[in-house]
Amino acid sequence: MDNKPKILAHLCCAPDALYVVGLLQASYLVTGYFYNPNIHPEEEYRLRLEETRRVARHLEFELVEGEYEVDRWFQLTEKFKDEPEKGRRCHICYAWRLNKTAEKAKELGIPLFTTIMSISPWKSSAVLNRIGRMTGRKYGLEFLEADFKKKDGFNKSVLLSKQFGLYRQNYCGCLYSWRTR
Ligand code: SF4
Repeated sequence: MDNKPKILAHLCCAPDALYVVGLLQASYLVTGYFYNPNIHPEEEYRLRLEETRRVARHLEFELVEGEYEVDRWFQLTEKFKDEPEKGRRCHICYAWRLNKTAEKAKELGIPLFTTIMSISPWKSSAVLNRIGRMTGRKYGLEFLEADFKKKDGFNKSVLLSKQFGLYRQNYCGCLYSWRTR
């Protein structure tokens, strides 16, 4: 019987999940949550999801799949479509996905949640951790603060995902980031 604490980890893509979930599994019983209605176009969404399923099978963790609520995502972010990456549009995008992760954690009875997004050199861990803390307070859950890009995390994830033959995207995810590739 594994008595490690349970955690629900929001997963944005397979290459990042392969490295970070592996790390988390040393201390936690991880359930993954793929909730990313920001990803455009839908074929890209399906591809990233399929690759994440491969990682879940390989690392033997349960993967919960959220809905592809793309219309809702566009409604939330459209006003900020011209913002640069890391700007307000991204903050809304992080907050929406973290809120949905907390909702799912609550539903599953998992008291702790996190996101693996801080592994990206294009994402501020300070912003993600602040939004995570606020979301945790709102739902009465604990948010695991992290900066997975530390200790050369990003380069390690690139290497590991290459060895595993995973697809790695060349843009963050949304239509707006896709146009500026
Ligand atoms: S650039 Fe990335 S984080 Fe920012 S809004 Fe687009 S998908 Fe979300």
